[in-house]
Amino acid sequence: NQGLGSWPVRRARATPDKAAVIHRGGTRTYREWCGRVHALANGLHQRGVGRGDRIAYLGPNHPALLETLFAAGTLGAVFVPLNTRLAAAELTFTLHDCGAEVLVHDGRHTETARSLRERIPELLLITTTEDNSGEEDLETLISAAPSDFRDEPVAPEETALVLYTSGTTGRPKGARMSHGNAIWNALNVLVDVDITSTEVTLLNAPLFHSAALGMTCLPTLLKGGTVVLEERFDVDTTFDLIERLRITLMFGVPTMFDALSRAARWPDADLSSLRFLLCGGAPVPAELIRRYSARGLAFMQGYGMTEASPGVLLLSAAESAERIGYAGKPAFFSDVRLERTDGTTPSVGEPGEILVTGPNVVAGYWQRPADTANAFTEDGWFRSGDLATVDEAGFHRIVGRIKDMFISGGENVYPAEIESVLHEHPAVVEAAVVGVPDPVWGEVGRAAVVVGTERPAETGELAEFIAERLGGYKVPKRIDLVDELPRGATGKVDKQAIRRAHG
Ligand code: AMP
Ligand code: MG
Repeated sequence: NQGLGSWPVRRARATPDKAAVIHRGGTRTYREWCGRVHALANGLHQRGVGRGDRIAYLGPNHPALLETLFAAGTLGAVFVPLNTRLAAAELTFTLHDCGAEVLVHDGRHTETARSLRERIPELLLITTTEDNSGEEDLETLISAAPSDFRDEPVAPEETALVLYTSGTTGRPKGARMSHGNAIWNALNVLVDVDITSTEVTLLNAPLFHSAALGMTCLPTLLKGGTVVLEERFDVDTTFDLIERLRITLMFGVPTMFDALSRAARWPDADLSSLRFLLCGGAPVPAELIRRYSARGLAFMQGYGMTEASPGVLLLSAAESAERIGYAGKPAFFSDVRLERTDGTTPSVGEPGEILVTGPNVVAGYWQRPADTANAFTEDGWFRSGDLATVDEAGFHRIVGRIKDMFISGGENVYPAEIESVLHEHPAVVEAAVVGVPDPVWGEVGRAAVVVGTERPAETGELAEFIAERLGGYKVPKRIDLVDELPRGATGKVDKQAIRRAHG
């Protein structure tokens, strides 16, 4: 097995007694962790799950998430982590789209899981919380199955994970990440960041996104460090854990680091154990960088995307103080180029779309040849839809986006998705959604909606209509009813004008 699934047994061989996973005060060594992963793989195999089958996971960060991921890798099965913030309709779509055989879920999602199975009868449900409702539970499954090693041959090109991302057109699509993609990203991180076997890495950003999973979790496990799993980001708990467990590394989106720095405990908290803070997934405000450097804490910054598993550009802590506003240089084994709309290369300082290639860049989307052909060039470059400039020294700066997307609290929001839901509402004639700056969330949504005269609607009704169909973070914070949408000369909705008028 040359995939992720071989990591537990290799780590158990190299460092059996080191702490692998800490969760709510409980610690498991690499030997114990490996035993559980293999028991889970054997248990799943007994239930007919095998190579190529999709195993979905619905729940926050928890040891079970990593056990399921590595058990899937052991079997050559595919791990599909689901965003817990999505609405039931979006989860059903995703499970159908990837053709999941198994759904592992936590206690908070029991109702959701059961209603999903009503719609997908062949779905095997496994709960991570012990319950006596007759449903299969993970602990019983692990304790009943043999923990001997299943040595399945798994090649680096095989799919390890399918990670769903939305887009400017159509429904969400699954980026098909191979074992090799994930491993090369981890190697990129280990070349660029001095992560060692003594790392104690706090994972309080969701592992169903590629950022925390790829940038800190997998590299720490590869080196034999310790990961500390937290189910959600909470300011007080974060300070407690940093102080008590002497956390050395933490990834967060800007909103998380901003919340920490505004807390009452911030001035007195003992942060002396922190070696690295990695901030990414959204532009990092200069003011945030200054607030942290005033305390002697420097951010490493990262720019990336799911399709690159996810690291693309990295700015080291040493560089980040002098290069405020930059995203950095390409990851070691990856290459980045910029392209003008006419396909030519812009000169130094002039913006162009970022294209990335490398062994960490995925081959395409799960069963979406058209989307794949749109987003990837024939020779394997991924078109990011982001605009950047590069300076003489090779440092890149993200200067905008070609795609219509905004980022709210680290979650990407594609207006097209919300607009198409609004259009389903019988009262709506026209709708446009934009992202506007927000001090807490980075950006939040604003909608401008034209409603018909026969069937009027309240904005509250429209917000509810969206919330029933899409994750809560996609519901615009404000909806304005307008007489008409501003349009440019070509008839296209002028989103800049909406931003100015309704921001
Ligand atoms: P995702 O679909 O979650 O993988 O998000 C990828 C997108 O997030 C990128 O294409 C960018 O638009 C945005 N993004 C990620 N990191 C940064 C960053 N450091 N600065 C600005 N935008 C970013
Ligand atoms: Mg993102």
